[in-house]
Amino acid sequence: MISTQTIINRHRKDPTRLIDLLRDVQAERGCIDRDSRAEIARSLGLSEVEVEGVVSFYHFFSRTPVGRYAVYLNNSIASLMKGRASVAHAFEKEAGCRFGSVSPDGLIGLHDTSCLGMSDQEPSAIINGVIFTRLTPIRVRSLVLGMKTGRKVQDLVTEYGDGANQSSLIKAMVSNNIRKRGPILFGPYDSGVAVRRALSRSPEEIVAEIKNAGLLGRGGAGFPTGLKWDFCRRQKSGRHYVVCNADEGEPGTFKDRVILTELPRLLFEGMSIAGYAIGAAEGILYLRAEYAYLRDYLESVLETLRAENLLGKDIAKHSGFHFDITIKSGAGAYVCGEESGLLQSAEGKRGEPRNRPPFPVETGYLNESTTVNNVETLCAAAQIIAHGALWFRSLGTSRSTGTKLLSVSGDCERPGIYEVEFGLTVQELLDMAGSKDAHAVQVGGPSGTCVARPDFRRKICFEDLPTGGSVIVFGPWRDIFEIVQNFMDFFIEESCGWCTPCRVGNVLLKRKLEKIIAGRGTEDDLREMEDWGRLIKAFSRCGLGQTSPNPILTTLQGFREQYMKVLRKDTPFVPDFDLSAATLDAALATNRPPVLEEASHE
Ligand code: SF4
Repeated sequence: MISTQTIINRHRKDPTRLIDLLRDVQAERGCIDRDSRAEIARSLGLSEVEVEGVVSFYHFFSRTPVGRYAVYLNNSIASLMKGRASVAHAFEKEAGCRFGSVSPDGLIGLHDTSCLGMSDQEPSAIINGVIFTRLTPIRVRSLVLGMKTGRKVQDLVTEYGDGANQSSLIKAMVSNNIRKRGPILFGPYDSGVAVRRALSRSPEEIVAEIKNAGLLGRGGAGFPTGLKWDFCRRQKSGRHYVVCNADEGEPGTFKDRVILTELPRLLFEGMSIAGYAIGAAEGILYLRAEYAYLRDYLESVLETLRAENLLGKDIAKHSGFHFDITIKSGAGAYVCGEESGLLQSAEGKRGEPRNRPPFPVETGYLNESTTVNNVETLCAAAQIIAHGALWFRSLGTSRSTGTKLLSVSGDCERPGIYEVEFGLTVQELLDMAGSKDAHAVQVGGPSGTCVARPDFRRKICFEDLPTGGSVIVFGPWRDIFEIVQNFMDFFIEESCGWCTPCRVGNVLLKRKLEKIIAGRGTEDDLREMEDWGRLIKAFSRCGLGQTSPNPILTTLQGFREQYMKVLRKDTPFVPDFDLSAATLDAALATNRPPVLEEASHE
């Protein structure tokens, strides 16, 4: 076993590499035990509390052993819809332990985790960093047998996916499922052309070109990219940084995974162009933990680009433009998709979002001016420089120019990746994906909008239905309440806990929802949920809390009749505390009649 000190030295005792360092310790020892935490703190000049705080923040770190084979099974709605329950049951039966525990011999640990970015091939799991997709109970049996006979996890992968997933540095059973290739992301691309064109012009002209193209951030928020680069460039910061947000954690999103797999050169070219535009010499690719299986491959692409003089010193023989990219890993935290949480994490800290202002363009990575851009945004920027703003503006709508990469999953015949022009209607997308009887479509993941059938003519674009890329289709047999509960569980689990409206409010909302589903709700409860939802959105510090009530609020709009069906009509008020349920066990144990709810109202 490699010693913790060796791992610390490998990371040059650099506190900003704490997440990568801890990932290595976790992988080597199966946990980050007390002695390791103390040794890391000593060597990096941190307090033990700081290290402890980081370890406790991320899903994929543990202070106790997670099992020699650590199974993390996705519990997102897309996984549930494709048979997660039977797969989980098979794991428990074969491994001899329940989810949330480790088998008595310490061999297998079963753990729940949020969306792995594989919604088009669920149920999926990560086992010791290796991805397994389309799991079935039969497959689980052979996997656990392999673990019990001591096989390497990578050797349990029986088939590889398509495209670069088959390359010797990935070897993953992940499929790209590219269903529609559009003109920008999947259009003509000649590596190096865009960066050479950029270098033949001034940085100000590059910023102007991106502004003219009307490029809006593809992560979902839609901030104008050219404006962000302009703010950044004008900052009198000692250094500037380009940070690529490759932490797509919104359940149902997997489009950046496909870009990282198939178009890494385009992405890195976009980062270089951003670096030239804002005056940065360093770029960071922040790669979500779930995509760590792509890291060696991405590192090799960076090496090739250095060899081709498309990264490094005097790029493309342009004297004075030096730019290089390093990769930093996340460790499992949805909130790190929020740009200031991401920067905290990239600095080796807990991924708690910062107060804004100041914004990252003013005080970003290591307090220097930083542009944080989505994977797809940077790819689009490179294509704009290669083909021109006019060409880009000719696609999409007047306010939402260009195309959008959508990750489609759920009840449809052709789940996968679709590059479409902005302005496409939900119905048109359903037709492409092969869904004839969709009842609801979740656009933008849990933080987005649940669109009901009468609204399928709505358009996917920033002026109507914005999305970072997630589209989940629900057939008429799906239970809307199960979907909303799953989304609320997700937000409760992922809240960093810093602010009260998000930490407490979402739990209260979920309890209220459960009361309604149990048939104990009244119209007053619906009104309260709407009021509380608005409060949580208004007073939460970051995007997570500001969007977390959306599953309830948007289904109250589109599916109100389903809520009305289960409400009590005979009384205007039912207390939140269910006395009859709370006393049922005691009544049974003492052989007394249970307290009736009606009696408890009196
Ligand atoms: Fe943390 Fe939620 Fe507040 Fe964001 S809104 S800072 S996730 S508690």
